[in-house]
Amino acid sequence: MSKRKIAIIGAGHTGATLAFIVAERALADVVLLDQPHNEKPAKGKALDISESGPILNFNSKIKGTSDYQDITGADIVVITAGAARKPGMSRDDLIQINEGVMAQVTDGIKTYAPDSTIIVLTNPVDAMTYAVYKLSGFPKNRVLGQSGVLDTARYRTFVSEVLNVAQTDVTGLVLGGHGDTMVPLLSTTTVGGVPLTELLEQEKIDAIIDRTRKGGAEIVGLLGNGSAYYAPAAAIYEMAAAILKDEKRLLPSITYLEGEYGFNDICLGVPTILGENGVEQVVETTLNDDEKAQLQASADAVEEVKKALKNK
Ligand code: NAD
Repeated sequence: MSKRKIAIIGAGHTGATLAFIVAERALADVVLLDQPHNEKPAKGKALDISESGPILNFNSKIKGTSDYQDITGADIVVITAGAARKPGMSRDDLIQINEGVMAQVTDGIKTYAPDSTIIVLTNPVDAMTYAVYKLSGFPKNRVLGQSGVLDTARYRTFVSEVLNVAQTDVTGLVLGGHGDTMVPLLSTTTVGGVPLTELLEQEKIDAIIDRTRKGGAEIVGLLGNGSAYYAPAAAIYEMAAAILKDEKRLLPSITYLEGEYGFNDICLGVPTILGENGVEQVVETTLNDDEKAQLQASADAVEEVKKALKNK
């Protein structure tokens, strides 16, 4: 197999962190692209990451640039470009600024990496994934967004903290929009196969779910300047690896729905199979009435944000 290439648009916190993880794990060569006035920091970060190679024992090539020609041949393009959430700002406040960024970035991708699979991180991510899907004209399996892997990782972390068990032993699935309306599926949560409901009383489970819903805001409040980037970058890494290595992972991703779960013409977080063809399948699991109602509320919230998009 020829050497793989991931282009990351936006060399900020998440972009650079992702570049480091991809390089360090030798998943692919990396192009880290930012706006012309930020080309030097992008080059600086790329060089800095390269210089860790001899120590950490990797040979991935990392290039910083502001020239879209450099993304030519990318298998995956990750979009982290845009404004980050500041304290007190909701994800949805970002929509106007970031839709313009998506239009510009999508133009570059269509011109130089027309066969790539696009993974969107930029917030509000459900609406931005929708915008990129529409703007790109790519098939729906090749445009996806990240929210559920991160939300599920936060949920798993909080469960493990409360129970004092290994976080890798906690499984679960968080669906719906990335935000306060996300839907953690309690029925899927186990610790080493033992249902969470047998290990923890409902009140404590509710507190974990509430903390998961506000997980992004918790980090924003602590950082004081900017939003989370280590776990978001790790989440994108997991999705990109599933696609590049054709792993057929069952991971939640934001994908364009045409009737699945009863939704149409919306990009929403649902369980998917990720492999070499991007989103290869939407997995429709049975939801109870409460989960159905929560997913509907989540879709309604995403529809509200979508209304502000110019291209729909
Ligand atoms: P950041 O500010 O550190 O980085 C953003 C980068 O994008 C900056 O370097 C900026 O120069 C660049 N940029 C802006 N406009 C551009 C353009 N037109 N072309 C190329 N580059 C451009 O922000 P961050 O912390 O890396 O977050 C990036 C985005 O990801 C934000 O929208 C944030 O809200 C979102 N995010 C989403 C999730 C999620 O779960 N979906 C998680 C974390 C962050």
